[in-house]
Amino acid sequence: MGGLGFFLNGMGPDLAGGQIQAVRQASQAQAETKSEVNELQRQVERLALLNQAMWEVLRDRLGLSDADLEAMAHAVDMRDGTADDRMTAQAVRCPSCSRVNNSRHAKCLYCGQLFEKPLFG
Ligand SMILES: [Zn+2]
Repeated sequence: MGGLGFFLNGMGPDLAGGQIQAVRQASQAQAETKSEVNELQRQVERLALLNQAMWEVLRDRLGLSDADLEAMAHAVDMRDGTADDRMTAQAVRCPSCSRVNNSRHAKCLYCGQLFEKPLFG
């Protein structure tokens, strides 16, 4: 017999069983991850649809334009000081009452002070 049989015999039943178990667990974890990704994709697509529907209702009923939406999206994007199409939440101190707010908000939650943009640091 060749060296492979000797090698496998040398692994012993416990080690081989442990490897099989590890492969099964990895396969199950992979299936769970795929299921979670599919669910997140479904949720994102649903949210995109609802966003589009809400925008079209607002645009049509308030006489807004797509340029209005883009301008506001840019203003919200810049609240964290970076134009990256994301809202990165940061702690910001209100210049009026000195309480800490989330940078996603356009005004102080405590005193109503409107924030200049960008407001942080
Ligand atoms: Zn305040």
